[in-house]
Amino acid sequence: PGAPVADPETGAAVKAADRKHVFHSWSAQEVIDPLAVAGAEGSYFWDYDGNRYLDFSSQLVNTNIGHQHPKVVEAIQRQAAKLATFAPAFAIDVRSEAARLIAELTPGDLDKIFFTNGGAEAVENAVRMARLHTGRPKVLSAYRSYHGATAAAINLTGDPRRWASDTASAGVVHFWGPYLYRSQFHAADEAEECRRALEHLEQLIAFEGPQSIAAILLETVVGTAGVLVPPDGYLAGVRELCDRYGIVFILDEVMAGFGRTGRWFAADHWDAVPDLLTFAKGVNSGYVPLGGVAISERIAATFATRPYPGGLTYSGHPLACASAVATINAMREERIVENAAFIGETVLGPGLRAIAERHPSVGEVRGMGVFWALDLVKDKITRQPLVPYNAAGADNTPMAEFTAACKRSGLWPFVNMNRTHVVPPCTITEAEAKEGLELLDQALAVADRHTVAAAG
Ligand code: PLP
Repeated sequence: PGAPVADPETGAAVKAADRKHVFHSWSAQEVIDPLAVAGAEGSYFWDYDGNRYLDFSSQLVNTNIGHQHPKVVEAIQRQAAKLATFAPAFAIDVRSEAARLIAELTPGDLDKIFFTNGGAEAVENAVRMARLHTGRPKVLSAYRSYHGATAAAINLTGDPRRWASDTASAGVVHFWGPYLYRSQFHAADEAEECRRALEHLEQLIAFEGPQSIAAILLETVVGTAGVLVPPDGYLAGVRELCDRYGIVFILDEVMAGFGRTGRWFAADHWDAVPDLLTFAKGVNSGYVPLGGVAISERIAATFATRPYPGGLTYSGHPLACASAVATINAMREERIVENAAFIGETVLGPGLRAIAERHPSVGEVRGMGVFWALDLVKDKITRQPLVPYNAAGADNTPMAEFTAACKRSGLWPFVNMNRTHVVPPCTITEAEAKEGLELLDQALAVADRHTVAAAG
């Protein structure tokens, strides 16, 4: 990896300029203390003080191909020189090629691609397509989910970030998905959790009225809200409910898609085929903003002669499409999805389970591929979360101390509520993954100090 060069003066200037004019998302402006980043390569990035960090976050779980992949950087440069921008209504070679490649990879007959600039817009448009296709108003989505921060997407989100939304959540009804470790259904095992979650969903459909429900939207593997892997049979069960009641099945693969779980799409693990599939992030590792909706033939046919009322100035932006083509080709040539599966099975899975045994603060390990979470607890028996689940003004000290310990050691973690997610690039090597686990192991000693075991 590239070598960091200490240049604290430039670092201080970059930070001062940021503080003056940049308004940061999801942050109190005077509290946020952003790190000034000087460069990045592969699984690492570095600051201006000579510190290098192993990126166990893939930023916002999107740099699946790692930082500064030369083939993707070069494709963007080449496209910029050839045709930097052009409106969506024209046929452009890289746009058709990106759509063809994505259609080829997505399951079933999801063969038409509507491009957006990111995940939230993909969700907004998928929901609009479902409503227009069915003529029905309501959408069901899960508690413990994240679907984006724009108006409809934030209302569809199931976690407390939705509370900040000032728009009415008209037409959105939330349900409980399966999550055995903190089961809403008091289930004893995965099979019972699955059965009860499907019964709950069918009851909810009955009480809301099947004739009023346009879509069921869910993340194939829940990401930001906890890396929740569905039990076998759950997705097939939801598919069946959708078919029985004429409801559109939308899988949100914005975070889980493009290699994160060790398959191209998380849906592939269970042979699940939705009617609409949303993607973003890993499609081009975020080198240029890009997202989209993969659309089944049946839903595309709704708009064969009737215009689809929706579009964005930058839909299918040539630079974004060129980077997606280069990303997908590089992932194939370098067997990057296979690498994610291999690292998950041989290093991260076994390594994290061993870590859980050693640390009283680790309640549960779950995940697949390069998509894992450690659920940190005060007490392994009661499963009380290490910090209260989003209680306003709650003391976040244990997680803040753990995060600081990771960063001091050169590991950049992804931390949310009482969890740390282990979500490195799909390109991570065995040696890098092992290095990260060692640093994580050491930092968890800080979390252990806040547990009942430490107090007792
Ligand atoms: N859907 C899922 C599953 C996500 O994880 C995210 C972002 O984290 C989004 C949608 C929103 O994507 P974006 O931030 O690109 O709008």
